[in-house]
Amino acid sequence: MIKGKVIGFVLILIVVVVCSVVMFGEVEIRFNIPTAEAASDKVISPVKARARDFYAPNTEDLGPDEMRLIACGTGMPTARPKQAASCWLLELGNGDKFIFDIGTGSNERISAFQIPYNYLDKVFLSHLHTDHFGDLDALFVSGALAGRQKPLRVWGPSGETPERGTKYALDHLRKALTWDLDGRMGLTDPRGYHLEINEFDYKGMNKIIYKENGVTIRSYPAIHSLDGPVSFTLEWNDLKFVFGGDTYPNKWYAEYAKNADLAIHECFITVPDMITKFQFTPQSALLVGTQIHTAPEAFGKMMSLIKPRMAVAYHFFKDFDTTASINDRIRTTYDGPLSLSIDYMVWNITKDNIRVRMAIVDEDVWPPPATMKPQKPDASIRIPYSDMIKGGKYDMKDVIQPTYDEINKKYGLNEKQD
Ligand SMILES: [Zn+2]
Ligand SMILES: [Zn+2]
Repeated sequence: MIKGKVIGFVLILIVVVVCSVVMFGEVEIRFNIPTAEAASDKVISPVKARARDFYAPNTEDLGPDEMRLIACGTGMPTARPKQAASCWLLELGNGDKFIFDIGTGSNERISAFQIPYNYLDKVFLSHLHTDHFGDLDALFVSGALAGRQKPLRVWGPSGETPERGTKYALDHLRKALTWDLDGRMGLTDPRGYHLEINEFDYKGMNKIIYKENGVTIRSYPAIHSLDGPVSFTLEWNDLKFVFGGDTYPNKWYAEYAKNADLAIHECFITVPDMITKFQFTPQSALLVGTQIHTAPEAFGKMMSLIKPRMAVAYHFFKDFDTTASINDRIRTTYDGPLSLSIDYMVWNITKDNIRVRMAIVDEDVWPPPATMKPQKPDASIRIPYSDMIKGGKYDMKDVIQPTYDEINKKYGLNEKQD
C-alpha cells in the first residue's frame, strides 16, 4: 500500500518537472545541503588559518577613533566562577583607560587583559554596594605590586550623610589595610600604595566630574536602596558611553543617556527565577527584582526611550535556563540592538560599527611590564619584627646564601641577608 503511494508521488513529481521544463525552459531544483563552496566564495584551505572571531588580549591595536569596552564583571552580589560582580573596563583610542565599578571577583578578570597597571589608575564607582566596589582593595594592593607606580585615583558619590559617602568608605578601607600596607613598607616600589579619593555630589544633575585629555565624564542620580547611587556618561571623540550602575528606571537616565553609542543598564534576574533559583520569598523577589532593581521588561522600555546604538544588559546570572526568559521579557518592550552581557564580552565601538565578541583569555598570565623604571626598596622604612618573633627564626642562612650569591653575581650587587 505505502510502496504504491511512494511510486505514485515520484511519478507525479517527474511529470511536474518535465512539464515545467517544457513550459519554462528550465527548472532549478535546490537541495539545502550546505557545502564549503556554497557557504563562502573564499577558497577554504587545509593549511591556511581562517579569520578568527574572538578577542585575544594584547594582540590588537586600538584605532585612534575607537573605544573598546570589556565586561570584567556582569553578575550578582554572589560572585561565581562564571561571573564576577559589576566591572567595566573602557579603553579609548587616545590611550586613556577607565574602570567603571570594581565588584567582587573582578580584579582577577582585569588581570586577564594584560594591561600595564599604570594605565589602570582611574576607577569610577556607581555606588558602595560590595558587588560594585568589593574588589577595590584587591586592585589597590595587587595593582601596586603588579606595576602601578602611581596612586590609584577613585571617583565616587557622596551620600545623604558623610558616613554614607565614598570618602568615608575609602578612608576606612585604607585604615582596614593598615597591617597589609605597613607590612609591605620597604620591600617593593612604594609609589602605588596611595589612594586619591574624589567624592562628588550624588545629586549633581549631569554635572561634569572629570574632564581631562578630551574626555568628559558626567554623573546624575540613580534610584537604588538609599540615596547616593549614580549613573555615568562618558563622552570622547563624538562617542557617548553610558554606565547606569544599579537603578530603578529613572527620568534622569532617560534624558542623559539618550542617543548613546553604547548604553549599559542593569537588568535583574526574573522574579520567577529569583524565587526558584535564588530561594527568595515571593515578597522579597518582587521587591528586589522590580523595585530596587530593573526588571527585564522595564529595561526594554528604558532602551526604547533612549535608543542607543547598542543596549547592554547586565546584573543577572546568564545560564542556559535563564537567558531565554530574560530575552523574551526584554523583547516585549524593545526591539533594538541588544547585548545580554557575560564576563569577557568585548565591544569595539567606532562611529561606523560596533563589533561584539568574546575574549579568549590565558589563565597563566603574569604581571604586565611596568611603564616606568621600578624604584628599589628603602630598607630604612621597614618595620622590624619584635625580638620575640625574630627570636623564632630557624637558621636557614646556609641554604639561602647560594641564592644571594647567584643574584649578586648575575646583577652585580652586594645584597646581604637580614
Ligand atoms: Zn547595588
Ligand atoms: Zn548591584
